Parts: sequence; structure tokens; C-alpha cells
Amino acid sequence: MPQYSLTRVGLGNIIPAMLNDTLPKYFDPRKYAFNEVSIEGRLSLSQFPELSATLASNEGDAFIHLDFRVDEDRRYIATGSIKATVQVECQRCLEAAPVDLEVDLSLAFVYDEDHAKNIPSDYDPVVMTDGEVVIAKMVEQELLLALPIVAYHQESGCNPVALKYASSTDDAPDDEIKPNPFSILAELKAKKN
Ligand SMILES: [Zn+2]
Repeated sequence: MPQYSLTRVGLGNIIPAMLNDTLPKYFDPRKYAFNEVSIEGRLSLSQFPELSATLASNEGDAFIHLDFRVDEDRRYIATGSIKATVQVECQRCLEAAPVDLEVDLSLAFVYDEDHAKNIPSDYDPVVMTDGEVVIAKMVEQELLLALPIVAYHQESGCNPVALKYASSTDDAPDDEIKPNPFSILAELKAKKN
């Protein structure tokens, strides 16, 4: 069930062939910017290995919309958004909790890190590889940056059984005395002498 409209697109400068629900694997930002192309579509979260490793589940899609143009300083620019609902481990009950991510994008495509330094701060630089950008890589990095550091179910949304279990492991006896690292060091020193 799509949660986001895929039709909310201005029809100004769009090349119709690009406006389908399949994104290219990689693209040339310069070509897109010159032609003022818009792209829109979805990528399965399972395509993002690094992101999947941090999530409770890799089910779901990321929806991407980007409008390309050349700006007044002749930079290759894209503005748009990424939206995704990801399943993050709730830090209270340790079960999957949905988190809505919405990332506004304002990207400037550059040839290398040196060029990236000269990009004004209202743009995020994206470094091209051989003049191209792999879309999944770019989207994954943006989603990783947007992830919350900790997540919880909303009020009373926790699984009560899991919650009981999680809190009981939390209260697990911690009375086993951990050796103080300094005392170990002292012991070692003592043994040496
Ligand atoms: Zn929870």
C-alpha cells in the first residue's frame, strides 16, 4: 500500500520518459541538470546493506524524488526528498518500531573532494565517480544520516510481553565485581618486579 503520493509532480520541465516508477541504477547529474530532468521512484530497503544492518527489519521501500537543474553559478543541482518508513529496534521492549524518515535534499554534484569544499553550505555535496552517481549508494547514505540514534515505540505501543522480558534482562544482577583496569595494571606491575 503506497503511503506517499507518487503523482505530486510539477509538469514544468519534465522529460516524460524519466517519470516512471523505476529509478536508474546510476545517472549522470550533468546530463540530468542540463535537461532539467525529474526522477521519481522507489528502492527496496533490502538493497541497502549498511542500512539494513542497523535496522530491525529491511522490509519496506524508500521513495525518492529529485528535480535537477543547473544553478546560476553553473553548478549541477538536485532538490527533492527521500521518504521511508524503517523498522528500528525499540530501546524499551527491543521489538521493531516504525520510524518515518523524511529527508529534504539539496544536492550539488561535484567531481572530487576538493570541489566539494567549495560548495555553499545550503547544498550537500555529492562526489561523482567517473561522472556518475550510483543512486542506491547516495540514498543509503542520506537515510543513514537521518536515522535516529535511539528509537522507542510511541506511548504504550510497546509489546507488553517483550517489555517484561527486556526489563528483566535489564535488571539482571550486575553484582559480579568487575576488576578495575587500574588494579589489573598494578597487579601486572607487581608481578614484573
Ligand atoms: Zn517498544
